[in-house]
Amino acid sequence: MKNILDSDDIKRLGALLDSSRNIILTCHMRPDGDAVGSTLGLWNLLRSMGKNVNVVVPDRVPRSLLFLPGVREIAVFTQHDPYCQRLVSEADCILMCDFNTASRQGDLAPLIQGADCSKVLIDHHKDPDMDCYLKFSYPQMSSTCELVFRIIAALGLYATLDTNASTCLLTGLITDTQNFTVNCNSSEVYEIMMRLLEKDVDKKKIVDEAIKSCTYDSLRLNAFALLERLEILERNRAALITLSKEDLDRFNYQKGDTEGLVNEPLNIRGIVYSVFMREDADCIKVSTRSKYDFPVCDICRDLFNGGGHQMAAGGEFYGTLEECRRIFLENIHNYDKYIPSSLDKLEIK
Ligand code: 5GP
Ligand code: MN
Repeated sequence: MKNILDSDDIKRLGALLDSSRNIILTCHMRPDGDAVGSTLGLWNLLRSMGKNVNVVVPDRVPRSLLFLPGVREIAVFTQHDPYCQRLVSEADCILMCDFNTASRQGDLAPLIQGADCSKVLIDHHKDPDMDCYLKFSYPQMSSTCELVFRIIAALGLYATLDTNASTCLLTGLITDTQNFTVNCNSSEVYEIMMRLLEKDVDKKKIVDEAIKSCTYDSLRLNAFALLERLEILERNRAALITLSKEDLDRFNYQKGDTEGLVNEPLNIRGIVYSVFMREDADCIKVSTRSKYDFPVCDICRDLFNGGGHQMAAGGEFYGTLEECRRIFLENIHNYDKYIPSSLDKLEIK
């Protein structure tokens, strides 16, 4: 494995961790496998090294990740407000994992940003804009968990990594690559998987828990969405799924039930990108995915107050579901220029 991390940064991180007793790990709202995997991976490692370490997250961990070692020790900001405030105020350093901008932490952002200690960014999203003592920003990496593994290896701590920490890291690698289908052309991703498996990680269990673990209701909701709420915008090579509050209620929607739905239309030959709009309590949550390097992050940035990666991005729209859909359709032609011309003759059937 090539060492692509800056060696001075690694030295400074090592010194910071050595001199810190109270360490906080934190991640973005609506935490996914990579956010929880990277923070809990580091939590398990640092704890085994005798550090007083805590994970503080902005909101609840989804059901599919409750199998992760250490998950019960996570402090959820919405539930333990004074407790989280105390933890953060006592921190010697904060490691901010899997997000590039403060707003991705929602109500937790002021507490973390206002903390008077050294902050370290560990992330794979483009263009981070937070003030930090140290920045490990590597958008070319499959996942923050890949980056955390590389940092651990560069710090000379691979031998200290146990099964629990490795389970968390492999979970982020598996979920962010959609079980090794996207963002994983680099052979080094598989080398890292191999080195994690050497720590006796149960990969099958991760796949069963984190990916293949939906409920009957959620399976039916996803089937309904594809059958009744999917629009194919042929000229723009786009797919659009919209789910209203009413649709969600019909299938007893629980947080996480539509995880992965946005990917499904990309299976259609000739479709370049997919947009999913879901009516949430206070906004329309938009989720997008693409193929062929089509920049869905631009759509999320321009229309939905969001951003993300080139081929996986999201945002929030403040208005009705119908307005959200209309704004997208009114602006969709602006993005036709990114459709590869090699597809010109390919019919969508
Ligand atoms: P998902 O579609 O799974 O919710 O998010 C995919 C990616 O889009 C995330 O990894 C994150 O980079 C980005 N993303 C999702 N929601 C938002 C958002 O509201 N704001 C920003 N800036 N990025 C988002
Ligand atoms: Mn990630």
